Amino acid sequence: MVKASKSVSPAVIGLLHKFSEPEVSLLREKLLSHYDANHRILPWRSIAATEDDRNKRAYAVWVSEMMLQQTQVATVISYFEKWISKWPTVADLSKATLEEVNQVWAGLGYYSRARRLHEGAVKVMDDLDGEFPSDRDSLVEQLPGVGRYTGSAIASIALGSCVGVVDGNVNRVMARLRGIGADISAQATVDHMWSLADQLVDPERPGDFNQAVMELGATVCTPKTPSCSTCPLQSLCVAYRRSQDGQQKTSISSHFKMVGKSKDKVDESLVKDIECLPECDLCLRKEDWDSSLGVQNYPRKGQKTQSRQETSAVVILQRPNGQMYFVQRPKTGLLANLWEFPSIALTSEEESQWEESITQQLQEDFAVPQSYACLRIFVSDVLHIFSHIRQTYKVYKLSLDDKKPEVICPSKYQGSQWMTREEFMSSATSTAMKKILKAVESSEQKAKDKKPKRGKEEKPVDAKKQKTISQFFNASAKKQK
Ligand code: SF4
Ligand SMILES: [Zn+2]
Repeated sequence: MVKASKSVSPAVIGLLHKFSEPEVSLLREKLLSHYDANHRILPWRSIAATEDDRNKRAYAVWVSEMMLQQTQVATVISYFEKWISKWPTVADLSKATLEEVNQVWAGLGYYSRARRLHEGAVKVMDDLDGEFPSDRDSLVEQLPGVGRYTGSAIASIALGSCVGVVDGNVNRVMARLRGIGADISAQATVDHMWSLADQLVDPERPGDFNQAVMELGATVCTPKTPSCSTCPLQSLCVAYRRSQDGQQKTSISSHFKMVGKSKDKVDESLVKDIECLPECDLCLRKEDWDSSLGVQNYPRKGQKTQSRQETSAVVILQRPNGQMYFVQRPKTGLLANLWEFPSIALTSEEESQWEESITQQLQEDFAVPQSYACLRIFVSDVLHIFSHIRQTYKVYKLSLDDKKPEVICPSKYQGSQWMTREEFMSSATSTAMKKILKAVESSEQKAKDKKPKRGKEEKPVDAKKQKTISQFFNASAKKQK
């Protein structure tokens, strides 16, 4: 069956955003000399540069790249050293248990990276005869958690393949060098960045070249404080030229002289046309150029989808023995399977109705009688940012009797449990819930430190309805008699 293909017209890309062959040679030379003189000594680099065994090189670069995916170089160094001394080869790692792997990883976060390294090591040993795949595509195909960037980094740095890499640092350097002002995450921009990276990479020293571009982005061409005055690539940089007042026309002319795309005498009236094609898809639109930003006009990020604002109440139900009540989230969806305090979404109501709504829902969802629910005490607001949600938790605590009331778990959760602080801290829970517990503890600490003044004690949120806690308990006790 023939598939209907969508016709997508190719992006229009002006010459300004490409490198000519003379520029490529110049850039390689300047960048590698700068790298040779300035690069940071890092343990995985040393292994990649000196180890004879290709598998050990690939293993070291793979581990370092997985660690670096969400973590700063300075933090990764000691973790990497510990890891390599415990499991010097992929064979050693394949024999470890996941618990051991998680223990060594503890503190780096995003544990799925550790699990993938472990799975990958088992795969290399069981399915690939202990041999790492030899090129970018097979690395991506065979190793879990290895995408185009990581595959290219391992292939070039450890195995000498002539493939470029593109990460955040490379994107920034390239966008500035070539004046690429289109949304950096747009497909046409992504494709162009990869084609530039593959074109530029030095066939003699691909690993060093890729590390040199990334290092330049991390140390010289930084997001907020680029050091153009010390940059080895200044003469090749479109963003730098644009940022120089009154230099734009001359610079663009000289740029074209150098790359041999124009005659020695460039007609000044043509400069604007030569600068780029009017229909170019990668240019920064003139109205978007902000002269106060200089080179930081590049790269350009697409409009972020505005994060959603959400508010919910979190109620910490606590027994006199210190145990707190937790529910376990559903098996799928946001924060799946994690334990959390009972929470109540505060969505459409006006703020003035929130307190009433919390009392009502504690009663309806958790079977906490209204007379108890009203005794909760407001602790503080806790803000937590998820990737697309700005979540405000209004945190309350509610002290309960030893056995009463019996709290019922709503059916949307997998289950519930009373836990001590220690049990909760070692259970699977989210950072947001830990933040909430900390807020409660620090408010308790402050209350302890402060000598309560007469009449200044914490009051239940619904103090009008409930005169005092002791009155409430006395009243309940009388009723039961
Ligand atoms: S000249 Fe400035 S903007 Fe251009 S690559 Fe160097 S540091 Fe980055
Ligand atoms: Zn253009």
